[in-house]
Amino acid sequence: VITIGLDAGGSAIKGVRLEGERIAAELRRPHHGVDLIGLIVAAAAELSTPDVEAVGVGLAGLVRHPGGEFVWGPHLPLFNVETRPILEEKLALPVAVDNDANLAALAESRMGVARDRSHVLVLSFGSGIGGGLILGGRVYRGTSFAGEVGHMRLTEAGDLCACGNRGCWETLVSGSVLDRAARRILDRNATGEDLVAAADRGDAEAIAALAEAGRWLGIGVANLVAVLDPELVVVGGAAAQAGEWLLEPARMAMRENLRSDGHRPLPRVVRAGLGPIAAAIGAAILAGEEYSGDNDGDE
Ligand SMILES: [Zn+2]
Repeated sequence: VITIGLDAGGSAIKGVRLEGERIAAELRRPHHGVDLIGLIVAAAAELSTPDVEAVGVGLAGLVRHPGGEFVWGPHLPLFNVETRPILEEKLALPVAVDNDANLAALAESRMGVARDRSHVLVLSFGSGIGGGLILGGRVYRGTSFAGEVGHMRLTEAGDLCACGNRGCWETLVSGSVLDRAARRILDRNATGEDLVAAADRGDAEAIAALAEAGRWLGIGVANLVAVLDPELVVVGGAAAQAGEWLLEPARMAMRENLRSDGHRPLPRVVRAGLGPIAAAIGAAILAGEEYSGDNDGDE
């Protein structure tokens, strides 16, 4: 199957053309939130060849699947838009639309580190935490919006979240949290990447800040493992770049917060395999699975 996958995030559209499991073309276009639908159509046209059979689109926010209604998301200039029929008309191809974190999870389970695993939790760290659940080999969506793990409240009195609540998981560990720690510890232009570089140089404060974020990562993962019992936990985005500075404290906190006297096997916590284009790849895979007749992976 030959499909196009696009991932519209808060600051850029990323896209791939997928031929079987081969990435035949790739693009990245920064955007400023103006005419997002037009930009998606232009990106699809740029990647298109005459043999493309379907297009998949990932959107950052609350998306109803399979209808493709984009309900709301703090990072995109859309609100209650029926994206799928609009895109199908403009592209003259079948279109599948889903939440971006669901698609990143689908991609890792079909072509990445979770290949051939049936029960996988995939966390994508950016300005917040995107969660994708693969249960029984399929994307689990609940009624529509399952996997909004970034808004699990781990403490009542914590920092204010973009959603309006306090103490959400993503206020304790996310790309933004690492950026903030970098500004506090290093200087006001520093980023999470600089924080990791400082930890690599042996900066004790940077190491402690990453360990504290990692501890919260592990506490949240322990809660999700208690509910879902996945075989594997995949961590992508900013948290993956921080590597073991974050993941080792996370694994330790997961063990400490999921006690069963050692009787319970715990999932491995590993870095994502597909990098920043995971959701675009997942969008292309979803389009293929929904429109090639080989509709066994999803519903
Ligand atoms: Zn929140």
